[in-house]
Amino acid sequence: MIYDISRTISPTLKVWPGDEPFSYQPVLKLSEGASVNLMTLTMSAHTGTHADAPFHHEPVNIHPSALDITTYIGPAHVVSIERQHGGIVPEDFAHADLTGVKRLLVHTWVSDLPDDEWSQDFPYPTPAFIEWMAELGIILLGVDMPSVDRFDDPTLQCHHLLYKHNIRNIETMCLRGVPDGVYELIALPLKVDHVCGSPLRAILRTLD
Ligand SMILES: [Zn+2]
Repeated sequence: MIYDISRTISPTLKVWPGDEPFSYQPVLKLSEGASVNLMTLTMSAHTGTHADAPFHHEPVNIHPSALDITTYIGPAHVVSIERQHGGIVPEDFAHADLTGVKRLLVHTWVSDLPDDEWSQDFPYPTPAFIEWMAELGIILLGVDMPSVDRFDDPTLQCHHLLYKHNIRNIETMCLRGVPDGVYELIALPLKVDHVCGSPLRAILRTLD
């Protein structure tokens, strides 16, 4: 069985305040006699379910095209946490069996938001949580929240800490309806150079 854990990209998808919303412009139209429908897309590199590239927050030229794609394919643990607000800490995962975890996907109430709604009051990782993940040997953190830092944290301390520990992140997943457990994650960033992130189609495949 396959779970699609991607947000739908459309003009009604809510984006981070001030970010460029998704839009499309027709270049050619079948209805006007052209041989094809052809469109130009306009959007933020952080539209919907996306991978941050280190270039987003570090002075390094690591763009989506240079991301190690093996990080984005492989076993992933989906864990629901009760926390609705404030900083996520290791204790929020006390109920979970994280044996062998490499990729951790955190499921919160934010997955229940429809695509056209957005909340800045989401639970967010803390440095203690990141350090704990690094000790566990985690290589990828996936969240349903729009950021791995508090909405109004100008320091982006958790983005930096993830980079320091070589942990990549995917934001704005939609884990609604996915039972906790271990799956195969497939969520490849587009091979785009020069930019700071990439939308991706994220799916979970059951292992049986
Ligand atoms: Zn991002």
